[in-house]
Amino acid sequence: MAEQDSVTRFVFEHAPVRGAIVHLQQAWREVLTRHDYPAPLQRILGELMAAGALLASGIKFDGKLILQMHGSGPLKLVVVEVTSRHTLRATARWEGDLPHGALPALLGDGRFVMTLDQSGAGQQNYQGVVPLEGDTVARVLEQYLAQSEQLDTRLMLAVDDTAAAGMLLQKLPEGAGQDADAWQRAQFLAGTLTPSELLKLPARDLLLRLFHEETLRRFQQQPLAFQCGCSRARTDAMLRALGRDEVEDTLADQGQVEVICEFCKARYVYDAVDVALLFSPLAVGDAVSGQVH
Ligand SMILES: [Zn+2]
Repeated sequence: MAEQDSVTRFVFEHAPVRGAIVHLQQAWREVLTRHDYPAPLQRILGELMAAGALLASGIKFDGKLILQMHGSGPLKLVVVEVTSRHTLRATARWEGDLPHGALPALLGDGRFVMTLDQSGAGQQNYQGVVPLEGDTVARVLEQYLAQSEQLDTRLMLAVDDTAAAGMLLQKLPEGAGQDADAWQRAQFLAGTLTPSELLKLPARDLLLRLFHEETLRRFQQQPLAFQCGCSRARTDAMLRALGRDEVEDTLADQGQVEVICEFCKARYVYDAVDVALLFSPLAVGDAVSGQVH
């Protein structure tokens, strides 16, 4: 029952259908313990995490896959990042009380943004943006994939206090001699899945429960883990980019400069000496950090 956080991909052997199943328990706990998210937001955040892990499992990339929902309602932003090293993190921004209800009640008019950030690997970034259309995270992403990627996709997502889980089904271009009805059949069967089954059944049992009459190839499950990419060196670079005047103003106002990571709540504190070093000609790159002359 208590499986490791992981994503498992599968394909239908004789039909143009592929899919993946994700279960997140530890990573979901890591996200929930760092912030006091209101209940309506927890659901959206967990669903977007599960969806992010599912989408990342199906593409080859070297860097970060970033899913963002920007809202004009009380919920301003939900962000999930999944890296090609199989780590993930998530955060959100909101104002006041969040109503219970469908996505539009929380986010208002907004947009969904998907970014493939491969700048670290020296490759081109890719970004797609669509208006938020749909009452649920799953419907918004299905719309996005249909419009921007011409991919017929079904997403089933479920969240409770202890886990976030999901299943993705995607229609592949049909090959000669393949079973063309399989996509309809797979969608129908996936529609019979309950949130409780999705949350509790291990991937192999889920596949058996739904597709025991199909021939499936199940790939080795890929572990996933919560991990934040923030660091002192990255915070240094961010402050340098902000500029000396702004950072020194904050120092003068508050006696120190404090940066708190939105994702993991790590605190990076800079006193007057740290700030001076940050903008010292000696502090080129990160080679100097830790050394004082
Ligand atoms: Zn962090």
